[in-house]
Amino acid sequence: MATRAPAGLRGLSSSVRPLSVIVAALVISLCLCTPATSQQEEEEASASASASASAGQRQRYGFGRFVRHARDAPPVSSHYSYIVVGGGTAGCPLAATLAESAGGGHVLLLERGGYPYGNRNDGVVNARARVLGGGSCLNAGFYTRASGEYVRSSGWDARLVNASYKWVERELVFRPDVPRWQCALREGLLQAGVTPDNGYTFDHVPGTKIGGTIFDRTGRRHTAADFLRGAHPRRLTVLLHATVSRILFKRRGAGKPVAYGVVFRDRAGVQHHAYLRSGGGGEVILAAGTLGSPQLLMLSGVGPRAHLEKHGIRPVVVDQPLVGQGVADNPMNSVFVPSPSPVALSLVQVVGVTRFGSFIEGVSGSQFGIPLHGASRRRTARSFGMFSPMTGQLGALRPSERTPEAMRRAADAMRRLDRRAFRGGFILEKILGPLSTGHVELRSTDPNANPAVTFNYFRDPKDVERCVRGIETIERVVHSRAFSRFTYANASAMEAAFDRAALAKFLNLMPRHPRDDRPLQQYCRDTVMTIWHYHGGCHVGDVVDQDYRVIGVQGLRVVDSSTFKYSPGTNPQATVMMLGRYMGLKIQKEGLIGK
Ligand SMILES: Cc1cc2nc3c(=O)[nH]c(=O)nc-3n(C[C@H](O)[C@H](O)[C@H](O)COP(=O)(O)OP(=O)(O)OC[C@H]3O[C@@H](n4cnc5c(N)ncnc54)[C@H](O)[C@@H]3O)c2cc1C
Repeated sequence: MATRAPAGLRGLSSSVRPLSVIVAALVISLCLCTPATSQQEEEEASASASASASAGQRQRYGFGRFVRHARDAPPVSSHYSYIVVGGGTAGCPLAATLAESAGGGHVLLLERGGYPYGNRNDGVVNARARVLGGGSCLNAGFYTRASGEYVRSSGWDARLVNASYKWVERELVFRPDVPRWQCALREGLLQAGVTPDNGYTFDHVPGTKIGGTIFDRTGRRHTAADFLRGAHPRRLTVLLHATVSRILFKRRGAGKPVAYGVVFRDRAGVQHHAYLRSGGGGEVILAAGTLGSPQLLMLSGVGPRAHLEKHGIRPVVVDQPLVGQGVADNPMNSVFVPSPSPVALSLVQVVGVTRFGSFIEGVSGSQFGIPLHGASRRRTARSFGMFSPMTGQLGALRPSERTPEAMRRAADAMRRLDRRAFRGGFILEKILGPLSTGHVELRSTDPNANPAVTFNYFRDPKDVERCVRGIETIERVVHSRAFSRFTYANASAMEAAFDRAALAKFLNLMPRHPRDDRPLQQYCRDTVMTIWHYHGGCHVGDVVDQDYRVIGVQGLRVVDSSTFKYSPGTNPQATVMMLGRYMGLKIQKEGLIGK
């Protein structure tokens, strides 16, 4: 079905119009995410990362001493104080912190994905990580804290929060070199009224700022797995390619069910059991992410009874209707702004925090890493990870249709487009919250299968209004004096590309909305994408208590993005990592007090 730029955007300089569809269908959805919605793709991504890691690199990081393949684990092991499920953005700092304590016993970290080092190189399509380090291994790297208000309303200890953020920042966060396109975006935001200028800061405050990044000056990505580097092998074991299928519970008399271990499978499908040490006091801690933690609770019998019974899950350990509820994904809408001159590659560095609940960010790229001509160029062209169609998603194709051949066809199609079409950058907006929420449900009892997720994007009209105001702000940035060198003064040069964009079939897998008499509202709904900041499903107060203990059972917590009601700051990873450290310190302290 044809998509036309809505009137609000037609009012923009036409250099902005092509964005909507070329953008999403060919570049952002295609290229902004590396990852993997299908099982096979996930396996391939993690396998290549794992295979390319040399023993020497592992040694350099000290990982050789405590990171092993799950197939090398014994069928049964039983001496753990803590079993952390999911070596992701929260799980790694959590396990590293728990393993710091000499009296804390031994920590087991189970990650279904592979090794992250040595790899240099609703219808909305989404992605999730499967690698040690989790989402921090494939995200855009932007680092920014939650607001003071968010910390207060979460009931966290502000001093410990601050110390935990600082711990993360010492290990992992860098000041970016800001290229001219990002500088123009920054100036443009200020001229568009997103003030004051807050300079370089991690703080979440209204105005325009430069934030941190987990990419260092050489362009190398650092990940949450880095936190594990200093761990002592006597206190930590990390098993890779270990997919946890179930948490084990036992009952003592009429007391609550108590978690005492987990079942996991290695890559060959061999089943292993890991138990907490006898004598009590140990815990299983889920850090499997927004999609993984509710899924695993349900697979283990903690969830809505009718849903569990429908899938034959017995016994139902706790009938907990709120597991998997309140899942949300902040809708992202973007505008591609072609540039008359080449633009350096940059991921998110500058953000505008408006007072009306819309956050403006930008990414730019020189051809987005697409090799343009000839085999030799192809070999030497940088893949830029997330920007490569060969590793990215095809926004307009179902996951099952994203074959290597389809990737190649997309890359070829991109190569045939006028290269000027890829010169420029995206200015995107993400809304605060969001208020619209959905749910995660099991599709099957296979722990390797992705669960079904419904986010109900833009169900709440306030979310749409925030988007509209965000797009209007982007319009002002594009028209600002500061941004003029990166936009076409003469629209006609790009008309052909705009027309092609308008004729593109669809974006994502959603039906087009009927024409709306409020064009920017329609633009928001029709071009919605994920910014991968999904959260919820194990909300504090509903599924876990204020100490992140799962309500209704003992010896089990959830510590990851699934516990958030709203996404923190403009981008969540800082707070996810902080939470891992923060809860690690709190649990450590409880353990010491308990002795
Ligand atoms: C493409 C992309 C771009 C992003 N850009 C940014 C950005 O620039 N800035 C920012 O702040 N945030 C960004 N984010 C969001 C951020 O990365 C996530 O919010 C964060 O990584 C979530 O952390 P988590 O610990 O909750 O989950 P994850 O990091 O996903 O960790 C969960 C881990 O659990 C493992 N797991 C799941 N199930 C099981 C199981 N059954 N057994 C064993 N292991 C299991 C997974 O393999 C994974 O490693 C981005 C995300 C993506 C995907």
